[in-house]
Amino acid sequence: MKNHFGFRNWWPADTNFEILVGAILTQQASWKSVERAIGKLKEMNSLDLDSIINMPKERLHSCIKETGYFRQKADNLKNICKSIKEDYKSLEILLALDDDDLRRILLSKKGIGNETCDSIMLYAANKEVFVIDAYTKRIMSRVFGIDENIEYGKLQMLIQANLPKNLVLYKDFHAQFVELGKNYCKKSIPLCNKCPLNKICGYNIKQPA
Ligand code: SF4
Repeated sequence: MKNHFGFRNWWPADTNFEILVGAILTQQASWKSVERAIGKLKEMNSLDLDSIINMPKERLHSCIKETGYFRQKADNLKNICKSIKEDYKSLEILLALDDDDLRRILLSKKGIGNETCDSIMLYAANKEVFVIDAYTKRIMSRVFGIDENIEYGKLQMLIQANLPKNLVLYKDFHAQFVELGKNYCKKSIPLCNKCPLNKICGYNIKQPA
């Protein structure tokens, strides 16, 4: 995948706070819409903890509307920012907690599930945790015949047990899965002919010639 797509240098963001916001907004949304929403917040010089807490809800709605579920996302974002401010004063202090504490605290926030939590842990806190998303499940299922409905934690453990524990690798590998899923391993009709994994993929190998 890396030979095909090149090093992805993921997650594209100027600050850890931008990663946090992007990880929340990208739920059920295209990355393009997240980029535009973040661009609007940046234009308003409002991509920081205090600005999100103090921003009128209607203004936040208009910035993130394109990402869908915007009312819910705005409420979650504001509440998460408020609790970080009240409990830790800054995002960086929260991100410096050890892995278990950081995971427990992130997962206790409404609007942060496993994938969002691990995206923040890997890309903002630089913790060695592999992010599992729908692309990862689909590709692992097609290539290796793993049940696509496998539990998040089980697939994460399986991947982590079979990859060298390496932060740069984890960051890039997840990004490679995203590229493969977006461009080739599509949900309904995978484009196996052009896929860089077609020689090793069980799904493709089983297809009639
Ligand atoms: S060969 Fe086809 S099914 Fe296998 S990973 Fe590539 S696109 Fe998906």
